Order: sequence, then structure tokens, then C-alpha cells
Amino acid sequence: MSFAVQFAGILLALGVVMAIGTAAVPLYQSQRDRQVLGLDGAARAATVAGAVVTAQTADAARGVACQVASLVETVVSFETGPTALRAAAAFYAAAAPPGDVVALVGPTGVPLAVQPSAPGLPLQAMLSPGLTRICRTGLAGYFAPGLAGRLYAIGVAPVLLRGRLLGGVGYLRPLGATLAASLRRTLVGGGRRGGVAFVSGGRFAAPGPFLGATVAAGQPLPAALLRSLRGGRGPVQTTVDGQPTALAAAGLAGPLGVPAATVLVAQPLAPAGTGVGDLVAPVALAAVLVLTVAMVAVYLVVEHYLARPLRQLGAAVGRLREGDYSRPVEAGGAEEIVRLAANFDLMRERLHAQLVGATGRTQIAAALNSAEPIEQALHAVLRALADLLHAGLVVLVTRPDPEPGGDLRVAVGTRAELPLWSALTSAPGLLGSLARRPATVVRDQLSELDRGPLEQTLGLRDCLIVPLQLGERAKGLLVVGNKRVPYSIDDRMLCQSVADQIIVAIEKSVLLAVSQREANTDAMTGLYNYRFLRGYLDQQLNVADRLGSSLTVLMLDLDHFKALNDAHGHQAGDAALRAFGRKLLESVRRSDLAARYGGEEFTVVMTNTGRIDAEVVADKIRQAVRSMPIPLADGRVLRCSVSIGGVVFPEGSGGDRDLLALADRALYSAKRNGRDRVEFIDLRTPDPAIRSPA
Ligand code: GH3
Ligand code: MG
Ligand code: MG
Repeated sequence: MSFAVQFAGILLALGVVMAIGTAAVPLYQSQRDRQVLGLDGAARAATVAGAVVTAQTADAARGVACQVASLVETVVSFETGPTALRAAAAFYAAAAPPGDVVALVGPTGVPLAVQPSAPGLPLQAMLSPGLTRICRTGLAGYFAPGLAGRLYAIGVAPVLLRGRLLGGVGYLRPLGATLAASLRRTLVGGGRRGGVAFVSGGRFAAPGPFLGATVAAGQPLPAALLRSLRGGRGPVQTTVDGQPTALAAAGLAGPLGVPAATVLVAQPLAPAGTGVGDLVAPVALAAVLVLTVAMVAVYLVVEHYLARPLRQLGAAVGRLREGDYSRPVEAGGAEEIVRLAANFDLMRERLHAQLVGATGRTQIAAALNSAEPIEQALHAVLRALADLLHAGLVVLVTRPDPEPGGDLRVAVGTRAELPLWSALTSAPGLLGSLARRPATVVRDQLSELDRGPLEQTLGLRDCLIVPLQLGERAKGLLVVGNKRVPYSIDDRMLCQSVADQIIVAIEKSVLLAVSQREANTDAMTGLYNYRFLRGYLDQQLNVADRLGSSLTVLMLDLDHFKALNDAHGHQAGDAALRAFGRKLLESVRRSDLAARYGGEEFTVVMTNTGRIDAEVVADKIRQAVRSMPIPLADGRVLRCSVSIGGVVFPEGSGGDRDLLALADRALYSAKRNGRDRVEFIDLRTPDPAIRSPA
């Protein structure tokens, strides 16, 4: 999933949680408040209903009972007998609303006169508690159950004659539907669910509508309603027609002051729904909170997913700009940035590899083109190759060559003695078999068969071997080993290219050696030529000059050589020249130089050699030539002689550096004086005569 989608998801989820959280609390609060208000309202309505009922019925009945009682007392003072009493009761009963009863009772509560007659009404049980009470308090208004579950408001007043209790007057008024309906109208309001009911002894005491049903007097209360009323004294909530309704009760006092009945008030509560208005404040609050939290979240998310990773990436790219390719490019945060960093790192790795490769190749090329001796150059090449490929070992062995410099054994990473090519071709193991049949071979791990004594000596575990191929001919093997990870195609191509460069460099060095030798030597005799002689003589003159040492130059010329040529042919002359060259080399020290000056003239340069030693050497040469046989192709053997002129620097030359000319002068003198002799020039003598040592 992309970073943006994740981010949006997080914000949305946060917003929803915040909105629900912030809106739910006040909503729950307002619901609770409304409920409590509704219940309180019902309780208040019940209290008012109780007070109104008491005032309108019980208190009113008491008032009427008092009036009747005072009338009775007045009548009794003039007349006597129940007749008068009945008349008085009838008078009041006639004026009373229908259903009301006036009763005159004796001191024990036994009815004496009842108007209108109320058969079955337990008048004694209803009135005697009141009569008992008025003996103590004077007057009484209370409620008591009567016939068929009906509830009566009762007023009782005493009838006295000169301080003596004659009896009492009871006024009884049944609580009816009319009273309940008027209470309902004034206190509760309309609707099916509201209502006012009188209850006594667990039964409805008056008919009428209540809680959505029409109840009859004496009808028992529903069990659930009874339970909730018994549960607590305060108002309770119940459900009518699936809607919440508050139910409250107020007691109606009995004759002894304790409640004998109850007035019940049911009041509808507002439904638990929510209006748009309820939501405005919480939603606005939620929006502010969500915005604040979102801003913090945006900052944190941007910092964590974007800003910090981008800073890391920037630093890494900065390092690349500075040319530091060794440290990896890493960044966390958003998926896209992680991918970007990974791509950068891939690029860095490739660049690094290319840079290392290019540097290594440049090093290799530079080493191969350097003026260093070939073995030294090859050592540098193998070192660079080992570094490039992280190889522990690189070995080069070449096939012997007739020219010097063609037979090479170079290694890095081992001190083991490397075998000659000839020994390699007979060795068991991988290297031996490849020396016999050169081929490119990669072994990520050497097998038992591959591992011969040489491989064990080298400690070879894995290898990449490339033959040094010059045309059809394999000139050697390049062995890269102990890389410890598999060789890649790139490794193979690099080694192939290095092997090609190496073989070219070796060939070049061989050719150079040959051409250098050819440039400085005479092909016929193998002695140094005139060119080399001049350079060498110049150099040695300087050394002798600086050190003050002696230097002798001999000039040698075969006698009558033209005649030899003429008599026996140029072949014979050439044979004589070759034989003379060999003899000359035999006769001088290794530190002396023998050169062919030109034609049948030769030169010997002897360093650190004074006149005495020089004359000995020169004469030794002269004598050796005299006894030197020159065998001809036809079996005959010729003889020849040589004339030698010499000069010794500095004393004999008098400081003159043109030693060749001076020696030539001495040679000329030797010729002139008869040939087959040695003469030295000495310019210090007054007459610079050429003197013979003999
Ligand atoms: P002298 O005793 O005075 O030195 O007599 P000479 O004949 O040796 O003198 P000259 O210098 O006149 O002759 C030199 C001869 O050497 C002439 C030339 O044909 C011969 N010669 C020079 N170079 C070669 C060579 O490379 N091979 C052969 N076969 N002959 C050569
Ligand atoms: Mg000559
Ligand atoms: Mg000659």
C-alpha cells in the first residue's frame, strides 16, 4: 500500500475515533439529564396530585363532617332521638354530590343514620378508626378502602353534648374517574401514556385510563408495575408501548397517619433519540480536536516518513557527490523513499564496481606499459587483479622461450616455489592437466581429482584459469584463485582481457630485448658493434676521468686479410672473422669489452687497466691468434696474424679523449713496422714515437 493511502487511512481512522469520542460523551450526558428531569417531573406531579386529592376530598369531607356535627349538636340540644339525626343527615346528603355518603354513628362507630343508604359499605370499619382518632385530635380527614376496591376520602367530626361524646358524623366521598381525569389534564397532559391512578392494597381504586389501558376499580396492578413500585421510594422508569415513561407515587394518609393508599402518576419521557441540534456542539468540538490532532499527526508523519528519510537520502547523495562510493545509501520512512534509496544504492554499487574496475584496469594497463622489467610489471598486474577480484591468490606461469624473458613465473598471495613449465606439464592435478591442454576453466570448488600436490602447496580452493594464448599457441596460464565466492561472467571476461594484455606485453618485452641486442651486437661474430662501442667508451671514459683510474683501448686489424679473402674466398674470410671473435672473447676479462669496429678491425676496451697489464693482454691476444686454426669447409686449415695498437688513458693519451684515433695511430705504426706485433702510443715522450713493447 502506498504511503499516501496509509496516511489518509490513519487520519480518517483518527478523525472517526475522535468524533465518536467527543460527541458521545455530551450526548450521553444530555440523555441522562433529560431522563433525570423527566423522573423528577413525575415525582413532583405525584406529590402535587397527592396534596390536591387530599385537599379536595379528605379535607373537604372533614369540613362537611364538622358542619354536620355542629348542626347535629344544635338539633340535639332542642330535640332528641335518631329521627332528628336522620333528618339532618338527609338534608346534607341531599345537597352533597352523588356518591357521597353522610353517616351518623354512635360512640363505638355503629351507624345510626346513613343518607343515602349505602348497603354493604363497611361503615363501622371505615369510621371507627377516625372516631378513635378524633377523641385525641378533634377532627380527622383520611383515606380508606370501601366497597369493591373503591377508595374513599373520609372526614369525621365528633358530636358532643355538654362535653360528653354522643357519637360522630362521617362524610365519605369515593375517589372517581373524574378527579383522576382532571388531575391528569392539569398535571400530566394528554396522550395515551400519561395518567393518574389511585391504588390501594395492590389494586386500582378508581376506574379510568392508565398507561395506555382502561382499568376498572378493584383490578389488580400488573406484576411488573407492582415490582417497580416496591423496588424504591423514588420515581422509576418503565416502558409503555416501547417508549420510556416515568412513574411516581405519592401516599394518601390513612386514619392513623400512615399511608393507606397511593396516587400514581405516569409521565411520558422524551425518546432516546438525538436531534440535529444535539449534534452541533459535539461535532464542532470534535472537528476542532480532530484538526489539532491531525495537524500534530501530519507533522509527525511528515517528519517520520518524509523529512527525516529525505535528509538521510540527501546526506548519502552528498557523499556520492564527494566521490565516497564506499558507504551504502540508506533511508527509512515512506515506501517510495525506501525504494528510491534502494535504487540509489544499486546505482552506487554499480558505480563503485565500475570505478574500482576502471581503476584496476588502468593500473594493469599502466603496469604493462611501464618501463619496468617485465617480471616487476607482471607482479604489479597480478596484485591489481587480486585486489579487483578479491582473490587470495594469482599465479602466472609461461612456457619457456628461446629468447630471454619468455620464461616467467610470477605469483601474489603465495610464497610457494612455482614449478617450471616443463615440470608443470607432467604434474598431476588441474594445473598440470591445463598445462598439457590449455583451456579456460572455472572451479567454484576444487574436486579431489583437481587437487594435486601443487594445488595443495598453493592452498588452492577455487580457481579461474585462463590460458595465455598467442594465435594458436598457448604461451602459459593465468590462475586466479581463492576468491571464496563463485566466479562471475565479468570475472571471466576481466581475466581473459588481462591475459590477452599480459601475453602482448611479454611478446613486446621479448621483441624489445631481441631488437636491443641486435642493435648493439654484430651478427657475424656476436661481439658488440661500433655503435655500442662508442656509447660504452664514452661512459667508461667519464668514469675513469672522475675516479682517476686507467683505461686502455686496443685496436686490432687482421694482417693481409684481403689476400686471405682473395685466395680462399669470402666464406673463408668470414670463418676467420668468426674464429677471431671467439678467440678475442676468450682472451679478455669478463669486465672488458670486445667489439667489431668494422671490416676486419676490432676494438678492446679494458677498464682499470694500466700500460703494463694492457701490454700483457695485447700480446696474449696476438700470440693466441697466431696459433689459432681456421678450419675451412674443404677440410683445410688456415692461419692468420693480427696487428694491435694501444693507448692508455689518461697517461698515454696525454688527456686526449679521442682514444680510438690514438689507438689507430699505434695500429698503423704496428703495420708499418712489420705486422703481427703490438705497439702503444705514449704522448708524454718528447718524441711521440710509437713504441713496441717487444
Ligand atoms: P693489411 O695487412 O695492411 O691490413 O692488409 P689487408 O689486406 O688486411 O688490408 P685491407 O684493409 O686493404 O683489406 C681489408 C680487407 O678485408 C678488404 C675486405 O675485402 C676484407 N673484408 C672486410 N670486411 C670483410 C668481411 O666481413 N668478410 C670478408 N670475407 N672480408 C672482409
Ligand atoms: Mg683493415
Ligand atoms: Mg688488415
